Amino acid sequence: MSERVVVALDVGGTGMKCALVRPDGVAVSTVRHPTDAARGPAAVVDTILDVAEGLADKARADGLTPIAVGIAVPGVVDEARGVAVWSANVGFRDVPLRDLAATRLGLPTALGHDVRAGGLAEARLGAGRGTGHVLFVAIGTGIAAAHVVDGAHVVGAHGAAGEIGHILVRPDGPRCGCGRPGCLEAVASASAIGRRYAELAGATADAPVTAAEVAERAAAGEPLASQVWQEAVEALADGLATGQALFDVATIVLGGGLAQAGDRLLTPLRAALHERMTFHREPRLVAAALGDEAGCLGAALLALDAVSVRNHQEKR
Ligand SMILES: [Zn+2]
Repeated sequence: MSERVVVALDVGGTGMKCALVRPDGVAVSTVRHPTDAARGPAAVVDTILDVAEGLADKARADGLTPIAVGIAVPGVVDEARGVAVWSANVGFRDVPLRDLAATRLGLPTALGHDVRAGGLAEARLGAGRGTGHVLFVAIGTGIAAAHVVDGAHVVGAHGAAGEIGHILVRPDGPRCGCGRPGCLEAVASASAIGRRYAELAGATADAPVTAAEVAERAAAGEPLASQVWQEAVEALADGLATGQALFDVATIVLGGGLAQAGDRLLTPLRAALHERMTFHREPRLVAAALGDEAGCLGAALLALDAVSVRNHQEKR
């Protein structure tokens, strides 16, 4: 029998990362496509199905056997029913994506949430590998988390577990996109850091400043940037300390754009988190290892789980 692979897609607001992935988690063929979300959700669904089918065809042409499909999407996802319930940036409203793909490709299909899929990949294959209890926290335009226990992600009763970005950290803080003031992501997401810097810089601000630039300017000793960066670090530490009180994980893996600041983020954040630990056991705090491939690899893991072929490959 020829080598087995799964078809994996990670659908984002701007692009799709797609791959054929072996049962050991190695991608043998990767490809990217624009999402072009402005075309509307129906057109995006057509593209997802076309790309998935094209990858399955490519697998067969290369002498491989596609055995399942995994698709990760943003927003609210009902993983049990396989429905993309709601998404702000792609426009999904109750799209039965799992069944649409299963029908089109004739393969078992799993639908997952993008951050939870990324967390699954980091926990099994990446920076959290081998540590049992992992909290993956993605910090980008928003902040979301995935709690992974022994290689399985916890989705919650309503498919909405891990919304760590909406922990209240600053009651008098800026209003969050969810409508409440002072949520973690309103204070410490990459976009919030850029906004805060611009607000304090006022008229002296030349152009919009990204969180990465704030980190750089702070490292270079600019007082305003240092203040903004430290404020964000303190808020993140409050959020992570709450996460640790709830989940008692061995490892917190930081992903998303802000984690690319590396030690400029990790070193002060470890210190701030350490200060907040009383009787709690301090988790290991590390940067994600899989970069922006994590969601796609996680989608592949969901597909593999759907056909339960991972048994012996996962033993280590
Ligand atoms: Zn919120």
